[in-house]
Amino acid sequence: MKALIAGAGIGGLTTALFLHEAGIEVEIFERADEVRELGVGINMLPHAVKQLADIGLMADLDAAGIRTRELIYTNRFGQIVWQELRGLDAGHDVPQISIHRGKLLGVIYRAVIDRLGRDAINLGCRVDGFGETGNTVSVRFARGDGSRGEARGDLLIGADGIRSAVRAALYPDEGPSIWSGIMLWRGATHWPKWRDGRTMAIAGGNFAKFVYYPIEADPGEPGMRLTNWAVMAKVGEAGAPPLRREDWSRSGVMEEVLPFVRDRFHLDFVDPAAIIRATETFYEYPNCDREPLPRWSFGRVTLLGDAAHPMYPVGSNGASQAILDAQSLATHLRSGDGIEAALSRYDAERRPATSAIVLANRKGGPEGVIDMIEARAPDGFDDIDKVASYEERESVVRGYASLAGFARP
Ligand SMILES: Cc1cc2nc3c(=O)[nH]c(=O)nc-3n(C[C@H](O)[C@H](O)[C@H](O)COP(=O)(O)OP(=O)(O)OC[C@H]3O[C@@H](n4cnc5c(N)ncnc54)[C@H](O)[C@@H]3O)c2cc1C
Repeated sequence: MKALIAGAGIGGLTTALFLHEAGIEVEIFERADEVRELGVGINMLPHAVKQLADIGLMADLDAAGIRTRELIYTNRFGQIVWQELRGLDAGHDVPQISIHRGKLLGVIYRAVIDRLGRDAINLGCRVDGFGETGNTVSVRFARGDGSRGEARGDLLIGADGIRSAVRAALYPDEGPSIWSGIMLWRGATHWPKWRDGRTMAIAGGNFAKFVYYPIEADPGEPGMRLTNWAVMAKVGEAGAPPLRREDWSRSGVMEEVLPFVRDRFHLDFVDPAAIIRATETFYEYPNCDREPLPRWSFGRVTLLGDAAHPMYPVGSNGASQAILDAQSLATHLRSGDGIEAALSRYDAERRPATSAIVLANRKGGPEGVIDMIEARAPDGFDDIDKVASYEERESVVRGYASLAGFARP
């Protein structure tokens, strides 16, 4: 069996590793001329880390990232709304990993090169069409020099991100992604370690949220961490076209982000404006998603990762769900009941699960607990239990964890 994959992001490359484990031949087509280690911080939840650990990548992930120990939600005054242990410290059998997205991609990419060989990846090939004849799928692509190519296989997996060409061919009337009106600015810089150097915080409320977590230790400087920050704030109307088209690599503008944190956040663990000013290059990304689809698999063609279920980047699910998709797809294909049946079963397993997360993320995901507290106590509180009981706060956070499949054992 030979699988064609459009896109060499975290979803496409992880799928290649799982299919290779299952004895399936793989050929990948990536639009970019090289696989570059782009992005900033990303979190991988324990159920996704487990999948990568099962294919032998745990040591590489440990070397590149941080085993997150605790997550703390606070209001904009730094008062704790919720705190919980994560990963191994919460009783899972594998850690949660906070990591630079580019480093994670690098770990997976190197494993693909080692195990499948360089020839498995065709760089500079933008997929722009496909066809099915009998038991064969052909994919058509354009090269950077203007020439065109075609390859044949037994199935096609569209793992080509939020602006997927494969999805557009399956759903030609869908149109562009949908903007929430919220802008996300994100960056990473070397910064003094906070607490144990393995703690993540999300602070703020409805006006703006500030996310802060370490993603890499520096053996030469144990008191420092490569630290990821993000600011999310409403700058437009939900459903309007984004101010600038979504592009993960678009640089942010200091004067646009600072007003959302300066004089608004009073945290005792970090001055958001100070870490933002200290970051040489940071990025903006309009929070975009798409409506959940009624179907991903059509004959021998299916979708995976952001191509299948682009979601707002809250709740640490973007990369994690793509990895779970990859493992599920390989498991169904290896069952030997035929490709079309396997793709249908993958669709039936993963589509409802991820659609629910897309919709939950629109409501703020687990971070909704901060919004709830801020709405009731905008100027802070003396006793959090009088603002919302433990059970009420727990239902927001743990309800999301169950939905996303990583509830604490
Ligand atoms: C450059 C970049 C930076 C990112 N940074 C962050 C970040 O800092 N924080 C965060 O939470 N998430 C980030 N993301 C998103 C995150 O990686 C994904 O949400 C998640 O990992 C799911 O990955 P995916 O492989 O499904 O999609 P993606 O990561 O979007 O990968 C899709 C891949 O397909 C390729 N591609 C697109 N169209 C075609 C085509 N027609 N033919 C062939 N190849 C195509 C793209 O070049 C890309 O390599 C970033 C994504 C990208 C592409």
